[in-house]
Amino acid sequence: MTHEIAVIPGDGIGKEVTPAAVDVLEALEIDFEFVEADAGDSLKEATGEALPQETYDLAASADATLFGAAGETAADVILPLRDAVDSFVNIRPAKAYPGIDAVRPETDLVFLRENTEGVYAGHEDRLTEDVATLTRVVTESASAELGEFACEYVSESDDHDGFTIVHKANVMRETDGVFRDTIKSVADENGVETDEVLMDAFATRVCLEPEQFDVIACPNLAGDVLSDLAAGLVGGLGLLPSANVGSERGLFEPVHGTAPDIAGEGVANPAATIISAAMMLEFLGYDEQAHAVHEAVEATLEEGPRTPDLGGDASTDDVTDAIIERL
Ligand code: ATP
Ligand code: MG
Repeated sequence: MTHEIAVIPGDGIGKEVTPAAVDVLEALEIDFEFVEADAGDSLKEATGEALPQETYDLAASADATLFGAAGETAADVILPLRDAVDSFVNIRPAKAYPGIDAVRPETDLVFLRENTEGVYAGHEDRLTEDVATLTRVVTESASAELGEFACEYVSESDDHDGFTIVHKANVMRETDGVFRDTIKSVADENGVETDEVLMDAFATRVCLEPEQFDVIACPNLAGDVLSDLAAGLVGGLGLLPSANVGSERGLFEPVHGTAPDIAGEGVANPAATIISAAMMLEFLGYDEQAHAVHEAVEATLEEGPRTPDLGGDASTDDVTDAIIERL
């Protein structure tokens, strides 16, 4: 069966790392049909529109979307695109790689971040000149969906014993109460082990002893902040992939942005985007090929060639070719 893959490079180094990931996918000789579409700052400059309807429609109908980065227009592009694929969870692995400088080389975490509600549901008000308010929305249905996903995620592989629920239900008793209680009862029904940690305590403990944690289910804002914190533990943004997953579609993108300081020089590290493409392969059921891509990236990170952000002097193309060679 042919899978249609939407490819949206966007701006800055998105235009360099996204084609690199497509080259790697093409080398696997899977029956993919790649359809490229435009979005982002440069498109807005040219046409007045950052995200044209046809790009949105393509993401909403393709089997999966590979996205690069958008600059100033990021919120106008990526938020609607996550909505186009109906994504309820943002998967953010944060893993240290052999041979790469990391503050905590033993870090190997996967954040499962609720992707639709919490404080990002958008109910902000300016009541008076003095007072601004924000309504935090947490539903049992979205919490249950995340809980079920977390159960499936840890059950699919022998690497995980269960997962940790991160919350602040001692203070936000209603909202995080619903979040924690719903996820816990879904896990109990599925016979999946859980433990729970308050989000402030988690921030300290993950810095001191990241090896105590594995898969973490957390509310939207907490997942955003804590996964960036974990990025610091493993050696920065250039290596972190992410997946926005819905029940039928997914959107896969590096955690980093457009990197305007190096854009156009051909030296961006393609690893985060290529690992995101490997997550896309897993999502589509190509587990063997996904594993091969992970292995080829890891070997290349360890043995080189490396781009300048990792202390090397190789180009994006050199690294991509080396990864394809190892496949
Ligand atoms: P944006 O507003 O688009 O997020 P930014 O200026 O915040 O842009 P990021 O893309 O978030 O830039 O990157 C932050 C820093 O990390 C920059 O110095 C950038 O060069 C570096 N960086 C990010 N991604 C990569 C990559 N793939 N390869 C090499 N360096 C990178
Ligand atoms: Mg940035």
